[in-house]
Amino acid sequence: MEALNFNQLKISVDRCGKHDIPLVEYGGRTTCVVCQRERVIEDEQKMIEEAEKRYVKRVTYDRFEKDSIIGDVTLKNATFQSFISDDDESIRNKKQTRQIAASYLDGETFNTLLTGTPGAGKSHLAMAILRAVNENSDPWRSCLFLSLDEFLLQIRNTFSNNDRNNNETEQTMISRIADVDLLVIDDLGAETGFIGTGKTATDFTQRVLYSLMNKRQGKSTIVTTNLNSDQLTAMYDGKIISRIYRKLEGHIVTFETERDRRIKF
Ligand SMILES: [Zn+2]
Repeated sequence: MEALNFNQLKISVDRCGKHDIPLVEYGGRTTCVVCQRERVIEDEQKMIEEAEKRYVKRVTYDRFEKDSIIGDVTLKNATFQSFISDDDESIRNKKQTRQIAASYLDGETFNTLLTGTPGAGKSHLAMAILRAVNENSDPWRSCLFLSLDEFLLQIRNTFSNNDRNNNETEQTMISRIADVDLLVIDDLGAETGFIGTGKTATDFTQRVLYSLMNKRQGKSTIVTTNLNSDQLTAMYDGKIISRIYRKLEGHIVTFETERDRRIKF
């Protein structure tokens, strides 16, 4: 930096309109020293704010990319725009899920259940809601997509984990997922492999789901499932079901039409 030559400093006859002190002339420029110091402080403040914003973004917006467990990779970029609605049911469900996304963006807290026919677009619309909130929420909110069977598999893998550098356990994995603002639990019931046979979910699955849903009280969760209400009740502990069904009024999206939308991107 060039050394300041005080011989070139001159006190001007003009005064700062804001601070009413004489301006200083230096190197052909006339400035108010107080204004200048304020600008420096302002710049520093901006830098601190930017750093804070980057940090908040990293622990909120970026979590979708970082921590989501998405079984079907074609789902990753699913949006409302890419959802094909060409009959009454799909048009109605797209409209309803758009309204649900808008309510989440308004800051409301409630659960959503997308239920019914396999391949009808439940996961697609769940992802669309999630992405809409992740992209448009102000302030940022953490959003996460979880393919339930993949998540359970990853937890199971920690049981036989001999890697000393990997401290992941069932509880750390659940806690990490449980604290996000908006969570999609995709394909509840698929993990059992016994859909329709009347069997109940395993103790392990019940334990993980209960722990997860219990930690998520006061947060919003979106669940997709091929199971209907009777099957859900038969398969899972009542305490899990009651936590999923909390504040669900108006937020149950049903799919009855048989069709495969999964390939239409
Ligand atoms: Zn000034």
